[in-house]
Amino acid sequence: MSANLQFKPLSSGIKYDDQKPLIIAGPCSAESEEQLLNTARALKNLNVDVLRAGIWKPRTRPNSFEGHGIKALPWIQTVKKEVGLPFAVEIATPQHIEEALKHGVDILWIGARSTVNPFNVQEIADALRGVKVPVLIKNPINPELALWIGAIERIYNAGVEHIGAIHRGFSSFQKGKYRNEPLWQIPIELKTLFPDLPLICDPSHIAGKRSFIYDLSQKAMDLNYDGLMIESHLDPDNAWSDAAQQVTPVRLAEILSELKIRQATSDDALFVNKLEEIRSQIDRVDHELIEVLAARMSLVEKLGEYKKENNVAIFQVERWNEVFKSRPEWAAKMKVHEDFVAELFKLIHLESIRKQTEVSERITVKK
Ligand code: PEP
Ligand code: MN
Repeated sequence: MSANLQFKPLSSGIKYDDQKPLIIAGPCSAESEEQLLNTARALKNLNVDVLRAGIWKPRTRPNSFEGHGIKALPWIQTVKKEVGLPFAVEIATPQHIEEALKHGVDILWIGARSTVNPFNVQEIADALRGVKVPVLIKNPINPELALWIGAIERIYNAGVEHIGAIHRGFSSFQKGKYRNEPLWQIPIELKTLFPDLPLICDPSHIAGKRSFIYDLSQKAMDLNYDGLMIESHLDPDNAWSDAAQQVTPVRLAEILSELKIRQATSDDALFVNKLEEIRSQIDRVDHELIEVLAARMSLVEKLGEYKKENNVAIFQVERWNEVFKSRPEWAAKMKVHEDFVAELFKLIHLESIRKQTEVSERITVKK
């Protein structure tokens, strides 16, 4: 996958102190001018850098509150004049972009339900040509990294200079603890491919429930995310959308003050030395790990030859059931996570089958 896009830090597109994470907060939806103004006043006193509110709301079912639309744009102008913070809204169509920019919206974001649709993203990208405001791109609702990257590339190719990605979790058929599965490995892979792409966590839409917001935010900080987008409402229980996941500004202040912000790295000589020492030990262990895998694969090869000579099938289900059962059990006794070892042996199994098939074909060709 191509990774040669160049991203600028968000602090060159949004004014904030980039020695700390970017904090975007505000209600899920703009409900009235008064609500927006009072929330903004409360958030201004916290560490909040950018206000947010949805005015076009993509709702799963019709007959839910779908946002006030353009009627809410003058409210945003009033809030900006009074509170002086930049304001972010979700856009999904060229008309939304035009209206939002006409009314001085500072940051646009593409919602999870738009990111899934390349036609929709391309239409948005075409409308963003020449636009100067930062654009944040939420992950698609389904766990597909390529779709997220595709949306980022389309917006990038339209010449948008300040781009960020928002991780808001992924929908899944099986309902778990969270409203949307975090699947942290997906944003981590995105960050590995695009190290300078600013990455923001939206713990509110991952959680679906306000009691999880703190832990998810801390996890994002531990993973060195560049910012957080948190939904905050003056009276969450009576919010017109996403009531269960919003926190009051008072609770948000507590969450922000309790977060432990990790440093990306440290220049301290003692720390650097120790880090190098542990990393070289890890390098050695990884080398041994590969030697052990090579030894396993050469045994597998021998096994393949032996099966072939005796006309026995490569795959014996009972044997693999036994392997899949025993290895995680051994792992648990050594305090290695069982699920991790189970996954690892699925890969080892595939490679063992591939190897034996290769051996079997070689022997056939020889005859
Ligand atoms: C939102 O931020 O209110 C929203 C609708 O988010 P998402 O696109 O992540 O569902
Ligand atoms: Mn919401």
